[in-house]
Amino acid sequence: MKVDYIVVGMGLAGIAFSKKLLSEGKSFVVFENESQHSSVVAGGMYNPVVLKRFTPVWNAKDQLEIALPFYKELELELKATYNHPLPIHRIFKSVEEQNNWFVACDKPLMQEYMIPEVGTDKTKGLVSDFGYGELVNTGRIDTKRLIEDYRQFLNSKEVLKKETFDYKAMEHLENGLNYKGLFASKIVFCEGYGMLGNPLFSSLPMQEAKGELITIHAPELKIDYLIKAAVFVMPIGDDLYKVGATFNWKDKTNTPTLAGKEELLMKLDMFLTTPYTIVDHVAGIRPTVKDRRPLVGIHDTFKHCAILNGLGTRGVMIAPQAAAQLYNCLEHQIPIPKDVCISRFNR
Ligand SMILES: Cc1cc2nc3c(=O)[nH]c(=O)nc-3n(C[C@H](O)[C@H](O)[C@H](O)COP(=O)(O)OP(=O)(O)OC[C@H]3O[C@@H](n4cnc5c(N)ncnc54)[C@H](O)[C@@H]3O)c2cc1C
Repeated sequence: MKVDYIVVGMGLAGIAFSKKLLSEGKSFVVFENESQHSSVVAGGMYNPVVLKRFTPVWNAKDQLEIALPFYKELELELKATYNHPLPIHRIFKSVEEQNNWFVACDKPLMQEYMIPEVGTDKTKGLVSDFGYGELVNTGRIDTKRLIEDYRQFLNSKEVLKKETFDYKAMEHLENGLNYKGLFASKIVFCEGYGMLGNPLFSSLPMQEAKGELITIHAPELKIDYLIKAAVFVMPIGDDLYKVGATFNWKDKTNTPTLAGKEELLMKLDMFLTTPYTIVDHVAGIRPTVKDRRPLVGIHDTFKHCAILNGLGTRGVMIAPQAAAQLYNCLEHQIPIPKDVCISRFNR
């Protein structure tokens, strides 16, 4: 069998690249072994403002201009809803934070997203002594549903192989590679944290960060916006809310922990007084990079091998743009921007 591409990994990066291949009429096969869960467990929030410091997220406006139509197209193709626009209420901790909010609101890029006032209306069950700032044109992508649906879609096209890609079985040829009798002109690795098992790219400086998230049932908390305080609280329907997330740079497992749960509950109880029960608890490893930029590029020696990774804490916004940049480089020799290209690291 011969295809244009092999794609390894079917998280947000794999979906973004596969969608690009389909739209360009390229043939491909995807390998997915469910070893990593980052995209499945993600909060899925998209938001162009750093909520700690009220500064713009790197490249966010450009990313959103590509990402929002990208998810819209997926909704039309798969006949489902993935994008749930939601304003964000950033709860202030002090008068100083209120002042910082107003200063940030005046900056050119932020005017589209930050409302220049302190919200004072009270919500039952929520402590917000210093009020809140409201962000608009933000929301969440239901990544779990998207991944389930996209995998099913690829399965129906008979291009999804639910198995581990074995790096040792790759035979590099002059014009591509042979993988156990499957001939491909190119291969794109989208393995998230799984990259560390890939001998071609494992030397790239990933600084992975485990994240845990719980889902609570809080029937008295009637909110249709996302709260960001010590943790975020995100409505997902049926009185359910995702609460997250932790950051742990030592534990490299996908297992939810008691310590992670206790940290989330301690932070949640600082501002939520309404009763709730925990109905789910998940964990995954974010593929974050030393310099907090994606890893996009082509291998120095094996020019048919490429990587799309390092989406870090913002895979929802970054993946569609990074996938297009990689594709344009592989197919049209358009250089990948220096700040995301893997050539920035001396390997
Ligand atoms: C708790 C948590 C909350 C988050 N919240 C947000 C958020 O609100 N907004 C946001 O934008 N981002 C968020 N993120 C980050 C986001 O999830 C990541 O940026 C994104 O999921 C990375 O996608 P990926 O496709 O690169 O990696 P992954 O999702 O890890 O996908 C890689 C895939 O490759 C497969 N794989 C690996 N090796 C192999 C192999 N050898 N053979 C076959 N298959 C293989 C894995 O099974 C996996 O499915 C969050 C992450 C976590 C953990």
